[in-house]
Amino acid sequence: MPSTLSPTLRMNGNGHHAPMDVEKIFGQNTFGLSEMKARLPKSVYKHLLATIQDGEPINVEVADAIALAMKEWAVEHGATHYTHWFQPLTGRTAEKHDSFITPNEGGGAMAEFSGKNLFQGEPDASSFPSGGLRATFEARGYTAYDPTSPAFIIKHNNVATLCIPTAFASWTGEALDHKIPLLRSMEALNKQAKRALSLLGDADVARVTATLGSEQEYFLIDESFFLERPDLLVAGRTLLGAAPPRGQEMDDHYFGTIPERVMAFMNAVEEELYKLGVPVATRHNEVAPGQYEFAPIFENANVAADHQQLMMMTLQRMASRFGLVCLLHEKPFAGVNGSGKHCNFSMGTDTGMNLLEPGETPHENLLFLFFCTAVIQSVHRHQGLLRATIATAANDHRLGANEAPPAILSIFLGDQLTDVFEQIAEHGKAASSKASGFLGLGTPVLPHLPRHAGDRNRTSPFAFTGNKFEFRAVGSSQSVSLPLTALNTITAEAIDDLSTKLEAKLGKKPNKQALENAVHDVIADAIRASKAIIFNGDGYSDAWHKEAEKRGLLNLKTTPDALPQLTSASTVEAFTTYDVLSEAELESREEILTEQYVMTVNIEAATTENMAQTMVLPAAVRYLSELIDTAARGNDLGLSFGGTLETAREVSALIDDLKAALGKLEKSRVALHASKNEAKTMKDKVLPAMSDVRAACDALEGVIADDLWPLPSYREMLFIK
Ligand code: ADP
Ligand code: MG
Repeated sequence: MPSTLSPTLRMNGNGHHAPMDVEKIFGQNTFGLSEMKARLPKSVYKHLLATIQDGEPINVEVADAIALAMKEWAVEHGATHYTHWFQPLTGRTAEKHDSFITPNEGGGAMAEFSGKNLFQGEPDASSFPSGGLRATFEARGYTAYDPTSPAFIIKHNNVATLCIPTAFASWTGEALDHKIPLLRSMEALNKQAKRALSLLGDADVARVTATLGSEQEYFLIDESFFLERPDLLVAGRTLLGAAPPRGQEMDDHYFGTIPERVMAFMNAVEEELYKLGVPVATRHNEVAPGQYEFAPIFENANVAADHQQLMMMTLQRMASRFGLVCLLHEKPFAGVNGSGKHCNFSMGTDTGMNLLEPGETPHENLLFLFFCTAVIQSVHRHQGLLRATIATAANDHRLGANEAPPAILSIFLGDQLTDVFEQIAEHGKAASSKASGFLGLGTPVLPHLPRHAGDRNRTSPFAFTGNKFEFRAVGSSQSVSLPLTALNTITAEAIDDLSTKLEAKLGKKPNKQALENAVHDVIADAIRASKAIIFNGDGYSDAWHKEAEKRGLLNLKTTPDALPQLTSASTVEAFTTYDVLSEAELESREEILTEQYVMTVNIEAATTENMAQTMVLPAAVRYLSELIDTAARGNDLGLSFGGTLETAREVSALIDDLKAALGKLEKSRVALHASKNEAKTMKDKVLPAMSDVRAACDALEGVIADDLWPLPSYREMLFIK
C-alpha cells in the first residue's frame, strides 16, 4: 500500500463528556413500561400490560390512546417522523419514514398520529424478497404493531425518528419477515411447555418465554484502509490478501487490554444502546487481532432479536464517529478467526424459573431432565434444519476453519450431565450427580472457587453452558430470528412428543413415585434414540468427522448442501403442526436464501476479477518493467543483475499464473448464466476459481515492491488500532 496513506486515528467521536450515569440514561430513548404507565389511562395500560406480559390479544379500542401518548413522548424527544420498523427477509431492518405533520385549514400544520397509523402500515412490498410468495404486481404489504417490543427513538445528530417495531406480511397474510414466525414459534413453545409443566406437577406457571442472550463478535479496522479496499466495500470481506507475518498465534489479543480508540468506541456504543434499553453487559477483545465482542444480558427472545438488530446498527453507526469501520462479516480475513454470534437459548417462566437450570443435583431434577431431553431430542431430529438456519455464503468460510465449530451439528453436555444421561440411558434412571466441588489454588490468600461440574468446549456448535444451550454456529452478520424460530419450534415439538408419551404412562392421579418413574421411562427412551448427537470431544479434529459419519450425523459442508433442509419432510411437519410457517412460507425462505447465496458469490467473483485485473496485474507489470529496465541499463556497467533477473522471471511466471486463473474464473462465470443449478455452479466452479485467482495475487503480494502494492495489507488492517 502507498505509504502516504495513514490511518485516520480520529479519537474523539462524540467529543469528550462526563462519565455516563447508566441508571439515568437506561431506556431513555424507549417508550417502555414506566413511560407507558405514566402517560396512559389506567385501563389502557392494563390492557397493554396483559398483552406484553401474558400474551393476551391486543385490544384495538386502545389504539388511539396509545398512539396519542406515544406521539407526545416522541415529539418531546424531538421526533418529527415515525416509521414502522420491520425485518424483511433480507436479514436486515427496513424503515420508511412518515412525518407526524398534518396540514390544517388555517394554512398551518399539526403533529398527528392516530391509532391506525400506529397499528398498521402499508409499505409497498414488491421490492422486498418474497421468494415466490407474491407476484411483483401484487405489491401490497402490511406492517403490524408489535406491542411486546418497545418503540424507540433513533437520533442522527439533530434528526430524531420514532421507530415502532412491526411485523410484515403480504396482502394474502403470509409472513414476509422474521418477526411473525418468531412470535408464532414462541407461542407454540409457551403452549407445549405449560402443558408439560402441568403434567410435571407445576400448575402455577402462566407463561413460558423463550430467552435469548446473543454474543456479537466483530472486527474494527481503520476507515482509511476500508475505503482503499473494493472487496471490503462491496463484499464486506477481503477477497485477496496474504497472511500477515504474525497472526493470532501468540494468543495475546484475547481478553487483552482494550486499545484506547476502541475503548472510546465501545463506550459510545454502550451509551447509545443503554439509551435504547439494550442491556449490554460484556465487552472484550476476541481471539484475532482487531476482533472484539459485545454481549447483552438475555431477554425475551423477540425483544432480544430486535435488540440484536439495534446492536448491529449501532456498532456500524458509532464506528464511523471514531474513524473506524465495524466489519460484521463472518470471515473478513482468510486464515484468521471468523466472527460468530453465539445464541444462548433457554426457557423462563413468569414465576421466575429457568427450565434449563440443573441445580446441584441434576439427577434428581425431573423438570430439568425433561426439558433438557426435549432439546437434545429436537437437535438430533432436526440437525439438518439447524444447519440450514445458519447457512450463508459468508458462514461457509467460517464453519470448520480457524477455531469455528464444524458444519456437523452435535451437542456438548459436559462431564456431569453426560454421566447423568448415560446412567438414565443404561439403567432407566440416574442415582447420582458428579459433584462440582471447589477449586483450591494452592495458596491461602486466594479464595477457594466454586468449580462448575463441567468444563467448557469451544469446539462444539451447540453447547450446554451451565443453565442454557449456546448455539455457537450462528454467524455474526445474520439475524438471530430464523435460528431461534427453528429452536423454539423443534423444542415445542419435542416437548409435545415427550408430554404425549408421559400422559400415556400416567394414570389418573399419579403419586410422586409414579410420576418420577414415568418421566424416567420417557426420557430414557428419548436419550437412547438421540444419543448420537451428544459429543464432548474435539469438534475440530478429523477423527470427529469420521466418527460423526459412523454415527449417521449429517455433515452439510456448504450452503447449497444445507438449504434444502428448510423444506425437508421433518421440517415441514414441525413448522406446519405448530402453525409457525406454512410449506409455501418455508419454500420462500429456501428460495430467498439460495438466491442470496448465488448473488453474494457472483458479486464476490466479479469483484475478485476486477481487483486482480485492474489493481494487482498493473502493479505486477510495473514492477516487472522496473526490474527489466534496471537489468538492461546495468549491462553497460558490466553488472550481472542475476538477482534482479531472477526476480523478474519469478514475477513474470506469477503474472502468467494470475492470467490463467483469471481466464478460468471468467469462464466459470459465463457458465453460470447457462446453468440451471446456479448455487451448485457457484460452489463447485466459481468459488474454487476465485481461490486460484486469490492464490496468484497473494503470491504476487509477497514479491512485489511494497510501495507499488495498491491495497492495504493484512498487517496494516489488523494491527493498526
Ligand atoms: P458464557 O461466558 O458461558 O458465555 P455468560 O454469562 O457470559 O456465559 O453468558 C453469555 C450469554 O448468555 C449472555 O448474553 C447471558 O445473558 C446469556 N444467558 C445467561 N442465562 C441465560 C438464559 N437463561 N437464557 C438465555 N440466555 C442466557
Ligand atoms: Mg458464551
